[in-house]
Amino acid sequence: MALCLDARLLMRKIRDLRCLTSRRHRVKGKWAATRPKYPPTSLALRHFDVTYSSQLGKLWPSVRVALLSERKYGALLNNFCNDDFVEYLASQGCRDFVADRNEHVCMEQNPEVEFSEKSDSTSMEKRDISGQQQLSLPHFSPNIKCFVFPRGDITRFKPARPDRSGLLGYYLMDAASVLPCFALDVHEGHSLLDLCAAPGGKTLALLQTQAIGFLYLNDASVSRTSRLKKVLHSYVPKELLTSERLHITSIDGTKWEEIEPNTFDRVLVDVPCTTDRHSLMEDDNNIFNKIRTGERRRLPQLQLQLLLAGVVAARPGGEIVYSTCTLSQIQNVGVVQEAIHLACENHGIQLQVVDLRPLADMFRNTFHFASDLHLGEMVIPHLAANFGPIYMCKLKRLT
Ligand code: SAM
Repeated sequence: MALCLDARLLMRKIRDLRCLTSRRHRVKGKWAATRPKYPPTSLALRHFDVTYSSQLGKLWPSVRVALLSERKYGALLNNFCNDDFVEYLASQGCRDFVADRNEHVCMEQNPEVEFSEKSDSTSMEKRDISGQQQLSLPHFSPNIKCFVFPRGDITRFKPARPDRSGLLGYYLMDAASVLPCFALDVHEGHSLLDLCAAPGGKTLALLQTQAIGFLYLNDASVSRTSRLKKVLHSYVPKELLTSERLHITSIDGTKWEEIEPNTFDRVLVDVPCTTDRHSLMEDDNNIFNKIRTGERRRLPQLQLQLLLAGVVAARPGGEIVYSTCTLSQIQNVGVVQEAIHLACENHGIQLQVVDLRPLADMFRNTFHFASDLHLGEMVIPHLAANFGPIYMCKLKRLT
Protein backbone atom coordinates (compact mmCIF):
# COMPACT_ATOMS: atom_id res chain seq x y z
CA MET A 1 0.00 0.00 0.00
CA ALA A 2 2.83 2.38 0.97
CA LEU A 3 4.63 1.51 -2.25
CA CYS A 4 1.51 2.26 -4.26
CA LEU A 5 1.11 5.66 -2.60
CA ASP A 6 4.79 6.46 -3.24
CA ALA A 7 4.38 5.65 -6.91
CA ARG A 8 1.30 7.88 -7.21
CA LEU A 9 3.21 10.69 -5.48
CA LEU A 10 6.10 10.27 -7.89
CA MET A 11 3.80 10.42 -10.92
CA ARG A 12 2.19 13.61 -9.63
CA LYS A 13 5.63 15.16 -9.12
CA ILE A 14 6.61 14.31 -12.68
CA ARG A 15 3.37 15.85 -14.01
CA ASP A 16 4.01 19.01 -11.95
CA LEU A 17 7.54 19.22 -13.23
CA ARG A 18 6.33 18.90 -16.86
CA CYS A 19 3.96 21.80 -16.22
CA LEU A 20 6.89 23.85 -15.07
CA THR A 21 8.91 23.05 -18.22
CA SER A 22 7.97 25.31 -21.08
CA ARG A 23 6.45 23.53 -24.12
CA ARG A 24 9.42 24.72 -26.20
CA HIS A 25 11.90 22.73 -24.10
CA ARG A 26 9.97 19.53 -23.91
CA VAL A 27 11.68 16.75 -25.83
CA LYS A 28 9.52 14.36 -27.76
CA GLY A 29 10.47 10.72 -27.40
CA LYS A 30 12.78 9.48 -30.22
CA TRP A 31 10.30 6.78 -31.09
CA ALA A 32 7.55 9.28 -31.84
CA ALA A 33 9.87 11.67 -33.64
CA THR A 34 11.56 9.27 -36.07
CA ARG A 35 9.17 6.42 -36.68
CA PRO A 36 7.71 6.92 -40.18
CA LYS A 37 3.94 6.79 -40.44
CA TYR A 38 4.26 4.39 -43.35
CA PRO A 39 7.44 2.28 -43.12
CA PRO A 40 9.08 1.60 -46.51
CA THR A 41 8.26 -2.12 -46.23
CA SER A 42 4.51 -1.30 -46.02
CA LEU A 43 4.79 1.11 -48.94
CA ALA A 44 6.56 -1.62 -50.95
CA LEU A 45 3.83 -4.15 -50.16
CA ARG A 46 1.13 -1.68 -51.15
CA HIS A 47 2.94 -0.92 -54.41
CA PHE A 48 3.47 -4.61 -55.23
CA ASP A 49 -0.16 -5.46 -54.41
CA VAL A 50 -1.31 -2.98 -57.02
CA THR A 51 1.23 -3.72 -59.78
CA TYR A 52 1.79 -7.46 -59.36
CA SER A 53 -1.85 -8.43 -58.84
CA SER A 54 -2.55 -7.07 -62.33
CA GLN A 55 0.73 -8.43 -63.78
CA LEU A 56 0.63 -11.92 -62.24
CA GLY A 57 -3.15 -12.31 -61.76
CA LYS A 58 -4.13 -15.41 -59.79
CA LEU A 59 -0.49 -16.24 -59.15
CA TRP A 60 0.18 -13.11 -57.06
CA PRO A 61 -1.29 -14.31 -53.68
CA SER A 62 1.02 -17.34 -53.57
CA VAL A 63 4.06 -15.38 -54.78
CA ARG A 64 3.22 -12.72 -52.16
CA VAL A 65 3.23 -15.32 -49.35
CA ALA A 66 6.56 -16.69 -50.56
CA LEU A 67 8.10 -13.20 -50.78
CA LEU A 68 7.00 -12.48 -47.21
CA SER A 69 8.42 -15.79 -45.94
CA GLU A 70 12.02 -16.70 -45.21
CA ARG A 71 14.02 -17.02 -48.41
CA LYS A 72 16.16 -20.05 -49.30
CA TYR A 73 19.86 -19.81 -49.91
CA GLY A 74 22.29 -21.80 -51.95
CA ALA A 75 25.93 -22.50 -51.00
CA LEU A 76 28.20 -21.72 -53.94
CA LEU A 77 31.23 -23.96 -53.50
CA ASN A 78 34.57 -22.15 -53.53
CA ASN A 79 37.04 -24.17 -55.59
CA PHE A 80 39.89 -21.91 -54.50
CA CYS A 81 39.50 -23.15 -50.91
CA ASN A 82 41.94 -25.91 -49.98
CA ASP A 83 39.46 -27.83 -47.82
CA ASP A 84 36.86 -29.92 -49.62
CA PHE A 85 33.36 -28.98 -48.46
CA VAL A 86 31.46 -31.25 -50.86
CA GLU A 87 31.21 -34.09 -48.36
CA TYR A 88 30.37 -31.75 -45.52
CA LEU A 89 27.51 -30.13 -47.47
CA ALA A 90 26.20 -33.48 -48.65
CA SER A 91 26.26 -34.75 -45.05
CA GLN A 92 24.02 -31.79 -44.10
CA GLY A 93 21.40 -33.08 -46.55
CA CYS A 94 22.03 -30.67 -49.45
CA ARG A 95 22.56 -31.49 -53.12
CA ASP A 96 24.37 -29.71 -55.93
CA PHE A 97 21.48 -28.45 -58.05
CA VAL A 98 23.80 -27.88 -61.04
CA ALA A 99 24.85 -31.54 -61.14
CA ASP A 100 21.20 -32.57 -60.75
CA ARG A 101 20.06 -30.68 -63.87
CA ASN A 102 17.83 -32.43 -66.32
CA GLU A 103 19.57 -32.64 -69.70
CA HIS A 104 16.79 -34.53 -71.42
CA VAL A 105 13.70 -32.51 -70.73
CA CYS A 106 13.77 -30.46 -73.99
CA MET A 107 14.13 -33.54 -76.16
CA GLU A 108 11.38 -35.37 -74.35
CA GLN A 109 9.01 -32.44 -74.65
CA ASN A 110 9.81 -31.92 -78.30
CA PRO A 111 10.82 -35.11 -80.13
CA GLU A 112 11.11 -33.17 -83.41
CA VAL A 113 14.49 -31.79 -82.40
CA GLU A 114 17.85 -33.31 -81.81
CA PHE A 115 21.00 -32.04 -80.10
CA SER A 116 24.49 -32.05 -81.51
CA GLU A 117 27.81 -31.20 -79.91
CA LYS A 118 29.44 -28.13 -81.35
CA SER A 119 32.92 -28.93 -82.59
CA ASP A 120 34.59 -25.92 -80.94
CA SER A 121 33.26 -26.27 -77.43
CA THR A 122 31.16 -28.22 -75.00
CA SER A 123 28.07 -26.14 -75.80
CA MET A 124 25.31 -27.95 -77.59
CA GLU A 125 23.06 -26.91 -80.43
CA LYS A 126 19.51 -27.99 -80.92
CA ARG A 127 18.61 -28.70 -84.56
CA ASP A 128 15.19 -29.30 -86.03
CA ILE A 129 14.57 -32.14 -88.47
CA SER A 130 15.59 -29.94 -91.41
CA GLY A 131 18.97 -29.45 -89.73
CA GLN A 132 18.48 -25.75 -88.97
CA GLN A 133 19.96 -24.47 -85.76
CA GLN A 134 17.27 -23.66 -83.24
CA LEU A 135 18.27 -23.25 -79.61
CA SER A 136 21.66 -23.25 -78.00
CA LEU A 137 22.21 -24.99 -74.69
CA PRO A 138 24.60 -23.07 -72.50
CA HIS A 139 27.97 -24.41 -71.61
CA PHE A 140 28.08 -25.81 -68.08
CA SER A 141 31.38 -25.44 -66.38
CA PRO A 142 31.84 -28.52 -64.19
CA ASN A 143 33.49 -26.17 -61.71
CA ILE A 144 30.35 -24.28 -60.68
CA LYS A 145 28.71 -26.20 -57.86
CA CYS A 146 25.87 -24.79 -55.80
CA PHE A 147 24.29 -26.76 -52.98
CA VAL A 148 20.65 -26.37 -51.90
CA PHE A 149 18.42 -28.12 -49.39
CA PRO A 150 15.60 -30.17 -50.95
CA ARG A 151 12.23 -28.64 -51.86
CA GLY A 152 10.25 -27.70 -48.79
CA ASP A 153 13.29 -28.03 -46.52
CA ILE A 154 14.04 -24.64 -44.98
CA THR A 155 17.15 -25.60 -43.00
CA ARG A 156 19.66 -22.74 -42.84
CA PHE A 157 23.29 -23.13 -43.86
CA LYS A 158 25.93 -22.70 -41.19
CA PRO A 159 28.42 -19.88 -41.87
CA ALA A 160 31.36 -21.02 -43.99
CA ARG A 161 34.69 -21.79 -42.27
CA PRO A 162 38.08 -20.58 -43.54
CA ASP A 163 40.79 -23.00 -44.65
CA ARG A 164 44.49 -22.77 -43.60
CA SER A 165 45.09 -19.85 -45.97
CA GLY A 166 41.99 -18.01 -44.73
CA LEU A 167 39.78 -18.66 -47.81
CA LEU A 168 36.15 -19.51 -47.09
CA GLY A 169 34.66 -22.80 -48.29
CA TYR A 170 31.34 -21.53 -49.71
CA TYR A 171 29.39 -18.34 -50.38
CA LEU A 172 25.74 -18.07 -49.43
CA MET A 173 23.53 -16.49 -52.08
CA ASP A 174 20.15 -16.89 -53.74
CA ALA A 175 20.78 -20.08 -55.72
CA ALA A 176 18.81 -18.63 -58.68
CA SER A 177 21.49 -15.91 -58.98
CA VAL A 178 23.80 -18.54 -60.47
CA LEU A 179 21.49 -18.91 -63.51
CA PRO A 180 22.46 -15.61 -65.21
CA CYS A 181 26.10 -16.81 -64.94
CA PHE A 182 25.20 -20.00 -66.83
CA ALA A 183 23.22 -17.95 -69.34
CA LEU A 184 26.41 -15.98 -69.98
CA ASP A 185 27.98 -19.16 -71.37
CA VAL A 186 31.63 -18.35 -70.59
CA HIS A 187 34.28 -20.20 -72.61
CA GLU A 188 38.02 -20.65 -72.14
CA GLY A 189 39.91 -17.37 -72.56
CA HIS A 190 36.86 -15.12 -72.79
CA SER A 191 37.14 -11.46 -71.81
CA LEU A 192 34.33 -10.51 -69.50
CA LEU A 193 32.84 -7.32 -68.08
CA ASP A 194 30.68 -7.39 -64.95
CA LEU A 195 29.27 -3.87 -65.12
CA CYS A 196 27.46 -3.75 -61.73
CA ALA A 197 29.47 -6.29 -59.78
CA ALA A 198 29.14 -5.56 -56.03
CA PRO A 199 28.89 -7.29 -53.63
CA GLY A 200 30.17 -10.02 -55.93
CA GLY A 201 28.03 -13.18 -55.75
CA LYS A 202 27.84 -13.59 -59.52
CA THR A 203 31.49 -12.58 -59.92
CA LEU A 204 32.44 -15.42 -57.59
CA ALA A 205 30.32 -17.90 -59.55
CA LEU A 206 31.97 -16.75 -62.80
CA LEU A 207 35.46 -17.01 -61.28
CA GLN A 208 34.75 -20.62 -60.28
CA THR A 209 34.79 -21.57 -63.98
CA GLN A 210 38.54 -20.76 -64.02
CA ALA A 211 38.09 -20.17 -67.72
CA ILE A 212 38.03 -16.38 -67.93
CA GLY A 213 40.90 -14.69 -69.78
CA PHE A 214 40.26 -11.13 -68.56
CA LEU A 215 37.72 -10.01 -66.01
CA TYR A 216 36.72 -6.37 -65.56
CA LEU A 217 34.66 -5.73 -62.45
CA ASN A 218 32.90 -2.42 -61.97
CA ASP A 219 30.44 -0.87 -59.55
CA ALA A 220 29.52 2.82 -59.33
CA SER A 221 29.33 2.78 -55.54
CA VAL A 222 32.71 3.18 -53.86
CA SER A 223 31.53 1.62 -50.59
CA ARG A 224 30.02 -1.35 -52.39
CA THR A 225 33.21 -1.74 -54.45
CA SER A 226 35.12 -2.01 -51.14
CA ARG A 227 32.66 -4.71 -50.10
CA LEU A 228 33.30 -6.49 -53.39
CA LYS A 229 37.06 -6.38 -52.72
CA LYS A 230 36.54 -7.77 -49.21
CA VAL A 231 34.44 -10.63 -50.60
CA LEU A 232 37.09 -11.39 -53.21
CA HIS A 233 39.84 -11.38 -50.55
CA SER A 234 37.86 -13.93 -48.53
CA TYR A 235 37.33 -16.28 -51.48
CA VAL A 236 40.00 -15.79 -54.14
CA PRO A 237 43.78 -16.34 -53.88
CA LYS A 238 45.97 -13.22 -53.80
CA GLU A 239 47.85 -14.26 -56.97
CA LEU A 240 44.64 -14.05 -58.98
CA LEU A 241 43.50 -10.81 -57.34
CA THR A 242 46.77 -9.07 -58.11
CA SER A 243 47.19 -10.55 -61.59
CA GLU A 244 46.86 -8.58 -64.82
CA ARG A 245 43.77 -10.63 -65.63
CA LEU A 246 41.58 -8.91 -63.05
CA HIS A 247 40.66 -5.22 -63.04
CA ILE A 248 38.38 -3.50 -60.54
CA THR A 249 36.93 -0.05 -61.24
CA SER A 250 34.35 2.14 -59.57
CA ILE A 251 32.80 4.33 -62.25
CA ASP A 252 29.30 5.08 -63.48
CA GLY A 253 28.61 2.10 -65.74
CA THR A 254 26.46 4.20 -68.07
CA LYS A 255 29.70 5.91 -69.17
CA TRP A 256 31.51 2.68 -70.06
CA GLU A 257 31.21 3.48 -73.76
CA GLU A 258 33.85 6.18 -73.29
CA ILE A 259 36.28 3.62 -71.84
CA GLU A 260 36.23 0.47 -73.92
CA PRO A 261 33.53 -0.02 -76.59
CA ASN A 262 33.27 -3.12 -78.85
CA THR A 263 35.64 -5.15 -76.68
CA PHE A 264 34.21 -7.92 -74.51
CA ASP A 265 33.19 -11.48 -75.40
CA ARG A 266 30.66 -11.48 -72.56
CA VAL A 267 29.02 -8.71 -70.53
CA LEU A 268 26.93 -9.16 -67.40
CA VAL A 269 24.55 -6.27 -66.64
CA ASP A 270 23.08 -7.10 -63.23
CA VAL A 271 21.33 -3.81 -62.61
CA PRO A 272 20.13 -2.01 -59.47
CA CYS A 273 16.37 -2.59 -59.18
CA THR A 274 13.55 -2.53 -56.62
CA THR A 275 15.09 -5.68 -55.03
CA ASP A 276 11.58 -6.91 -54.22
CA ARG A 277 12.46 -9.27 -51.39
CA HIS A 278 14.67 -6.77 -49.57
CA SER A 279 12.07 -4.01 -50.04
CA LEU A 280 9.43 -6.14 -48.33
CA MET A 281 11.59 -7.30 -45.43
CA GLU A 282 14.01 -4.49 -44.44
CA ASP A 283 13.25 -0.86 -43.69
CA ASP A 284 16.94 0.03 -43.79
CA ASN A 285 18.33 1.03 -47.18
CA ASN A 286 14.90 0.55 -48.74
CA ILE A 287 14.20 2.05 -52.18
CA PHE A 288 10.54 2.54 -51.14
CA ASN A 289 11.59 5.02 -48.47
CA LYS A 290 9.65 8.23 -49.25
CA ILE A 291 12.85 10.24 -49.66
CA ARG A 292 14.00 7.84 -52.42
CA THR A 293 10.83 8.07 -54.52
CA GLY A 294 12.61 9.98 -57.30
CA GLU A 295 15.47 7.46 -57.38
CA ARG A 296 12.96 4.59 -57.58
CA ARG A 297 11.05 6.19 -60.42
CA ARG A 298 14.27 6.76 -62.35
CA LEU A 299 15.32 3.08 -62.06
CA PRO A 300 14.01 1.91 -65.47
CA GLN A 301 15.85 4.77 -67.19
CA LEU A 302 19.10 3.91 -65.36
CA GLN A 303 18.64 0.20 -66.14
CA LEU A 304 18.13 1.03 -69.82
CA GLN A 305 21.28 3.18 -69.91
CA LEU A 306 23.30 0.45 -68.19
CA LEU A 307 22.05 -2.25 -70.55
CA LEU A 308 22.86 -0.06 -73.58
CA ALA A 309 26.33 0.60 -72.14
CA GLY A 310 26.80 -3.17 -71.76
CA VAL A 311 25.68 -3.74 -75.36
CA VAL A 312 28.15 -1.15 -76.64
CA ALA A 313 30.94 -2.66 -74.49
CA ALA A 314 30.46 -6.10 -76.08
CA ARG A 315 32.27 -6.90 -79.32
CA PRO A 316 30.24 -7.71 -82.44
CA GLY A 317 29.33 -11.37 -81.96
CA GLY A 318 29.64 -10.96 -78.19
CA GLU A 319 26.83 -11.78 -75.78
CA ILE A 320 25.18 -9.77 -73.02
CA VAL A 321 23.06 -11.00 -70.10
CA TYR A 322 20.71 -8.54 -68.43
CA SER A 323 19.45 -9.54 -64.97
CA THR A 324 17.44 -8.16 -62.04
CA CYS A 325 15.94 -9.42 -58.80
CA THR A 326 12.49 -7.91 -59.33
CA LEU A 327 9.24 -9.22 -60.77
CA SER A 328 8.52 -5.85 -62.38
CA GLN A 329 7.59 -6.05 -66.05
CA ILE A 330 8.73 -2.45 -66.59
CA GLN A 331 12.19 -3.14 -65.15
CA ASN A 332 12.54 -6.47 -66.95
CA VAL A 333 10.91 -7.02 -70.35
CA GLY A 334 10.19 -3.29 -70.73
CA VAL A 335 13.86 -2.32 -70.38
CA VAL A 336 15.08 -5.08 -72.74
CA GLN A 337 12.56 -4.18 -75.44
CA GLU A 338 13.52 -0.52 -75.32
CA ALA A 339 17.25 -1.38 -75.34
CA ILE A 340 16.88 -3.53 -78.49
CA HIS A 341 15.14 -0.63 -80.19
CA LEU A 342 17.61 2.06 -79.06
CA ALA A 343 20.72 -0.04 -79.76
CA CYS A 344 19.65 -0.09 -83.41
CA GLU A 345 18.35 3.47 -83.55
CA ASN A 346 21.23 5.22 -81.71
CA HIS A 347 24.20 2.90 -82.27
CA GLY A 348 23.33 0.90 -85.40
CA ILE A 349 23.72 -2.32 -83.38
CA GLN A 350 21.50 -5.27 -84.29
CA LEU A 351 20.69 -7.54 -81.37
CA GLN A 352 19.30 -11.05 -81.36
CA VAL A 353 17.44 -12.42 -78.35
CA VAL A 354 18.92 -15.77 -77.32
CA ASP A 355 16.26 -18.23 -76.16
CA LEU A 356 16.94 -19.30 -72.57
CA ARG A 357 14.16 -21.91 -72.47
CA PRO A 358 16.62 -24.83 -72.62
CA LEU A 359 18.39 -23.43 -69.57
CA ALA A 360 15.12 -23.03 -67.67
CA ASP A 361 13.98 -26.52 -68.69
CA MET A 362 17.09 -28.02 -67.15
CA PHE A 363 16.42 -26.52 -63.75
CA ARG A 364 12.65 -26.86 -63.38
CA ASN A 365 13.14 -29.43 -60.62
CA THR A 366 14.87 -26.77 -58.51
CA PHE A 367 13.21 -23.45 -59.46
CA HIS A 368 9.78 -22.19 -60.44
CA PHE A 369 9.85 -20.24 -63.70
CA ALA A 370 7.24 -17.78 -64.96
CA SER A 371 5.36 -19.46 -67.77
CA ASP A 372 4.22 -16.58 -69.96
CA LEU A 373 7.23 -14.34 -70.61
CA HIS A 374 7.85 -13.54 -74.26
CA LEU A 375 11.33 -12.16 -73.55
CA GLY A 376 13.76 -13.80 -71.12
CA GLU A 377 13.17 -16.16 -68.21
CA MET A 378 12.21 -15.43 -64.61
CA VAL A 379 12.47 -17.49 -61.43
CA ILE A 380 9.46 -16.69 -59.27
CA PRO A 381 9.34 -17.30 -55.50
CA HIS A 382 7.37 -20.33 -54.35
CA LEU A 383 6.90 -21.56 -50.79
CA ALA A 384 8.38 -24.99 -51.58
CA ALA A 385 11.35 -23.50 -53.48
CA ASN A 386 11.67 -20.01 -52.13
CA PHE A 387 14.32 -18.62 -54.50
CA GLY A 388 14.19 -15.49 -56.65
CA PRO A 389 12.82 -13.36 -58.05
CA ILE A 390 15.56 -13.44 -60.68
CA TYR A 391 14.90 -12.21 -64.21
CA MET A 392 17.42 -12.77 -67.02
CA CYS A 393 17.50 -12.07 -70.72
CA LYS A 394 20.33 -12.79 -73.12
CA LEU A 395 21.19 -10.72 -76.19
CA LYS A 396 23.72 -11.43 -78.92
CA ARG A 397 25.37 -8.60 -80.83
CA LEU A 398 25.02 -9.33 -84.52
CA THR A 399 26.75 -6.13 -85.66
N1 SAM B 1 26.03 -8.41 -59.43
C1 SAM B 1 26.01 -8.21 -58.01
C2 SAM B 1 26.11 -9.55 -57.31
O1 SAM B 1 25.83 -10.58 -57.93
O2 SAM B 1 26.52 -9.57 -56.15
C3 SAM B 1 24.78 -7.46 -57.56
C4 SAM B 1 24.60 -6.15 -58.25
S1 SAM B 1 23.35 -5.14 -57.52
C5 SAM B 1 21.93 -5.92 -58.07
C6 SAM B 1 23.43 -3.70 -58.47
C7 SAM B 1 24.68 -2.90 -58.29
O3 SAM B 1 24.68 -1.83 -59.24
C8 SAM B 1 24.84 -2.20 -56.94
O4 SAM B 1 25.98 -2.69 -56.28
C9 SAM B 1 24.99 -0.72 -57.27
O5 SAM B 1 25.96 -0.07 -56.49
C10 SAM B 1 25.41 -0.79 -58.71
N2 SAM B 1 25.12 0.43 -59.51
C11 SAM B 1 24.12 1.32 -59.35
N3 SAM B 1 24.20 2.26 -60.29
C12 SAM B 1 25.26 1.97 -61.07
C13 SAM B 1 25.88 2.58 -62.20
N4 SAM B 1 25.40 3.70 -62.74
N5 SAM B 1 26.97 2.00 -62.72
C14 SAM B 1 27.48 0.87 -62.19
N6 SAM B 1 26.96 0.26 -61.11
C15 SAM B 1 25.86 0.80 -60.56
